[in-house]
Amino acid sequence: MSKQVFNFNAGPSALPKPVLEKAQEELLNFGDSGMSVMELSHRSKTYEAVHQEAKSLLTELLEIPDNYEILFLQGGASLQFSMIPMNLLKEGKTASFVMSGSWSEKALKEAQLVGEAKILSSSKDENYRSIPEVNSSEINANDAYIHITSNNTIFGTQWSTYPDTKDVPLIADMSSDILSRPIDVSKFGMIYAGAQKNLGPSGVTVVIIRKDLLESANDQIPTILRYQTHAKADSLYHTPPTFAIYMLRNVLQWVKDQGGASGIAQANAKKAQLLYATIDESNGFYTGHATNESRSHMNVTFTLKSEELTKSFLSEAAEKGFVGLGGHRSVGGCRASIYNAVPLEACEALRAFMVEFQNKHA
Ligand code: PMP
Repeated sequence: MSKQVFNFNAGPSALPKPVLEKAQEELLNFGDSGMSVMELSHRSKTYEAVHQEAKSLLTELLEIPDNYEILFLQGGASLQFSMIPMNLLKEGKTASFVMSGSWSEKALKEAQLVGEAKILSSSKDENYRSIPEVNSSEINANDAYIHITSNNTIFGTQWSTYPDTKDVPLIADMSSDILSRPIDVSKFGMIYAGAQKNLGPSGVTVVIIRKDLLESANDQIPTILRYQTHAKADSLYHTPPTFAIYMLRNVLQWVKDQGGASGIAQANAKKAQLLYATIDESNGFYTGHATNESRSHMNVTFTLKSEELTKSFLSEAAEKGFVGLGGHRSVGGCRASIYNAVPLEACEALRAFMVEFQNKHA
């Protein structure tokens, strides 16, 4: 029997139990190959089927239109902070960034190393408690793209409706909320996400890019950093992270079994409401970091009245098997990351613990 824990880690984070069980079952003999999926050639038919299935499941679940390409890359979302401007921010063009947290700051900084990148709007002044307003009249037609972070893992805020950027392609870092709800992919020039929150283990980064952007991308950059290189080779230009892609395929199959993006979205809303209700009903014992309109369904951030109380909350929680509830060092307090694979029961158990802790310490 394994130890019973409730995993609220921010990433890498909980994976669906049936996905882990399947991996365990198939580990020593994948697809009757007599070996594990990690030991197969990435050019073999057995691996190729996994690769293609991952792509087709993602296309189906996110309803990705034909004029988009899916790429499986390495280097995490962080490499995308550099690859995007290298490929898409051409000479004479600018890029604009909506600043909603630390990851937007990192993305902006990298783009500024490559070309002219500016801030379109920001909620930094209020410690990123909310998603900043974007005024469509301020959109600069000379922008090669506008960049947003769809869910702010550290601050616990999430876009509810995406900005209308007119003809300027919208690029979203969806690392911490991809496939947590249905989205209209056609509204985006590009979407990218490191897999380690909603899609699988770390090691693979999913890029969904509109073909016209891909085709007109800058090719005067190192071969491996060009989107075109990976698109032409169907993400097999070099050895892909085969095990991570196998796990991604299995997670996507699991999402499909849960009713796809809309089924998952309903479950996520229920989990988030449970925890936000606990905060709201606590008479100020717990305070949410995000403003109500910007609350994330993925990362629930909250504080207690003092450092001391926070410390005892976290240590009592740890004793009871709640893992990963400490807030990010830049915000402090607590954070419960409740990605797709975190079951409702874990949120119910956390709610019960929060109420019990309050009764004891209020
Ligand atoms: N963007 C967001 C929104 C994130 O949450 C993270 C990681 N937690 C990153 C980017 C960086 O991702 P990676 O570690 O895959 O480079």
